[in-house]
Amino acid sequence: MNQLYYLTDDQRAIRDLAREIARERIAPLAAHVDETGEYPHEQLKLLAQQGLMGLHVPEAYGGAAAGSLAFCLAAEEVAWACAATATIFLVQNLGGYPIVFAGTEAQKRRYLPRIASGEITAAFSLSESGSGSDAAGMQCAAVRKGDRYVVNGSKMWVTNGSHAGVITVFVTTNRSQRAKGVTALLIEPGLKGFSVGKNERKLGIHGSPTVALHFSDCEIPVENRLGEEGEGFKIAMRTLEHSRPTIGAQAVGIGQAALDAATAYAKERRAFEQPIAAFQGIQFMLADMAMAVHGSRLVVHHAASLIDHGVPSAAMESSIAKCMASDTAMKVATDAVQILGGYGYTREFPVERYMRDAKITQIYEGTNQIQRLVIAQQLLGKL
Ligand SMILES: Cc1cc2nc3c(=O)[nH]c(=O)nc-3n(C[C@H](O)[C@H](O)[C@H](O)COP(=O)(O)OP(=O)(O)OC[C@H]3O[C@@H](n4cnc5c(N)ncnc54)[C@H](O)[C@@H]3O)c2cc1C
Repeated sequence: MNQLYYLTDDQRAIRDLAREIARERIAPLAAHVDETGEYPHEQLKLLAQQGLMGLHVPEAYGGAAAGSLAFCLAAEEVAWACAATATIFLVQNLGGYPIVFAGTEAQKRRYLPRIASGEITAAFSLSESGSGSDAAGMQCAAVRKGDRYVVNGSKMWVTNGSHAGVITVFVTTNRSQRAKGVTALLIEPGLKGFSVGKNERKLGIHGSPTVALHFSDCEIPVENRLGEEGEGFKIAMRTLEHSRPTIGAQAVGIGQAALDAATAYAKERRAFEQPIAAFQGIQFMLADMAMAVHGSRLVVHHAASLIDHGVPSAAMESSIAKCMASDTAMKVATDAVQILGGYGYTREFPVERYMRDAKITQIYEGTNQIQRLVIAQQLLGKL
């Protein structure tokens, strides 16, 4: 099933490299990361050393410019091993894209080579406590004073916000204009008036920090603005359209890990004097899980390929990939727990972790209800 004939030699090499690191070096640490919530410094360093942190960065800025499909292949492998590490790996991409899309030459030179080498990690801050799905309803505001913006308010749910060397923060410069009043600013830690809030205690992806950001009369130079004033929402939506297939890839990785664990267990575990894999009820569950994971993988690859081919809008395919793969991961991980019976419910086996980790893929980068809205809007047009 992994004989994906359409991959180029480069894509295959990137997948194989990511697979080797993920299986040999990242997977053995995943249960520890889950148990302790430790930040996966070493795992990220390994990915950086192999050049995998800059897959989305143009060559001119030290990246591999390998494309969306190559990135999805690597993301699936990392997620198979450790979804928390994969989340930070994905956010390197999510935080880097706005700079690739809208950065000035100076901004690109300042950040992209360091993102590509893994010297710094990146973050992307759109959501707030009162506005997640309705992102344009944000309240965190910036007022221009001469050559600075003065920012007041808070952002929430910022993956890697406590560790990032650069964060793209979306603020409103004109609340009444909603989406058209959103402006993107690049910020670095250590700014006066900027602080990082507490790390959320979550159901899963424990090694991936999720924090609030607070701004109190925080002055940010105008030269840190990405694009024009009021262009922030467009930058955010373009970024999400490109990154949603990568969440799909993360979900495929979790789903494949759950399927692999359930398959291995079914062959070992005996009941009624035979392996449980001999029961057709279990065989059909495994077959359904395999179909769903493989189908999701192909849909993710299709969306990523559309992006690589520069189609004008891949919004629908991108949302389908994210939504279908994450719903699949949740179902497959839940079924894997079922196949492991009582043991599946314990921390002795990884499937309960897969189930907890899978859930977030249905929520972040737009909940699956929001993905369905995007798909329906593309289907129906303006009513
Ligand atoms: C672990 C984690 C990491 C995250 N990382 C980041 C990050 O790095 N950067 C960032 O900016 N954000 C991040 N987020 C935020 C995430 O994207 C939001 O939580 C998500 O978009 C949902 O927003 P909300 O939580 O405000 O839910 P709400 O918008 O309040 O939604 C609540 C429920 O209502 C549903 N709903 C809302 N509107 C509609 C509608 N129009 N039609 C049908 N149903 C609807 C939703 O689907 C959901 O089920 C993260 C969140 C988590 C939990």
